[in-house]
Amino acid sequence: MNAPAPKLPPQHAPLTQFAVADDCLLVGGVPLTRLAQRVGQTPFYAYDRAAITARVAALRQALPADVHLHYAMKANPMPAVVQHLATLVDGIDVASGGELRVALDTPMAPGHISFAGPGKSDTDLACAIAAGIVLNLESEGEMERAAAIGQRLGITPQVNVRVNPDFELKSSGMKMGGGPKQFGVDAEHVPAMLRRIGALGLDFHGFHIFSGSQNLKVAALQEAHEKTFALALRLAADAPRPPRILNIGGGFGIPYFPGEERLDLPAVGANLARILDEVRAQLQGAQVVIELGRYLVGEAGVYVCRVVDRKESRGHVYLVTDGGLHHHLSASGNFGQVIRKNYPVVIGNRVQGGAREKASVVGPLCTPLDLLADQMELARAEPGDLVAVLQSGAYGMTASPAGFLSHPAALEILV
Ligand SMILES: *Cc1c(COP(=O)(O)O)cnc(C)c1O
Repeated sequence: MNAPAPKLPPQHAPLTQFAVADDCLLVGGVPLTRLAQRVGQTPFYAYDRAAITARVAALRQALPADVHLHYAMKANPMPAVVQHLATLVDGIDVASGGELRVALDTPMAPGHISFAGPGKSDTDLACAIAAGIVLNLESEGEMERAAAIGQRLGITPQVNVRVNPDFELKSSGMKMGGGPKQFGVDAEHVPAMLRRIGALGLDFHGFHIFSGSQNLKVAALQEAHEKTFALALRLAADAPRPPRILNIGGGFGIPYFPGEERLDLPAVGANLARILDEVRAQLQGAQVVIELGRYLVGEAGVYVCRVVDRKESRGHVYLVTDGGLHHHLSASGNFGQVIRKNYPVVIGNRVQGGAREKASVVGPLCTPLDLLADQMELARAEPGDLVAVLQSGAYGMTASPAGFLSHPAALEILV
């Protein structure tokens, strides 16, 4: 009888976007230790400009040439990052008045900026209409308010209808189709809304159909794309004019946790090309848009904090750092995770190190939730060493409760 194969602990997907030289992580070609000196403090986030550029190039390579790429900037709204992406993508999707102001400061033409999100205030709507960007209408009420504000300003609002589809992007085998949502207009109510848009004289651009996020499965994305095109073509029959825009959402995921595989981007692109070949004639020239946040920036960022104390408690090693969940809620496992899993973490200035050990990385907050790595195998670290949390370019600093416990804020740099 064969002995059972040894059960290896699940590993993180290999992360090769940052080179390592002299056992030190390089971001933008600069050793992390040098970057920490340049920033003048820890903790900080560093985003690698070349990694973002390379990611957009990979998407251009894989996706059909006539598909437009938008950046959903809530993933990382740092103005320098948005400025850089504005030169690489075809449009920017914002989700607040504040994000809109950052997007309008970039070279992106206002007509290629769209504004999604429920609960847009009258001020948000007025500023957006005056800016000449496209509103993704989230409800009938918002449509009526936009029309009234457009009247008052003497400017015709440009609008997409955000559709709450009657399906959902399947992930992890979980299916929750046709549910109620605070986003968009239920697909079954869209025909009546389209007729009202015509009656109100709004400038109808098209549809925004976003069915899910953080997906690593080619088949799930393919199914969502097929259903999205079918739904859009069905709804187009009631539009006041043929749609010019069909935003099919995004949802491309990145590997965070042990055992996760990278998304097979060429396969996603090939499937999309095949679907487009089937429906292109019926689209009547509508511009197909994919909007991505995390996939564009998530892997290009690293969160860096410094070991302040090293202690042992009943056989467990704790590396206590100056950073934690107040800067990086998602790495602590408290931003939508059901079961806490470790983000990829390395000791940035001794990636391989000499001795290795199992250690937990915690922050300075007085709560056991402030955990950046739970019992991970790391190079043995001492106070002064740098902890680097990878896959931190999206939903990092601005998705974290910076005020909790009143510690200093993190800084952000684009290298
Ligand atoms: C958040 C959001 C995105 C970005 O999602 P990612 O998972 O970061 O790609 C795209 N579109 C809409 C409407 C969103 O709300």
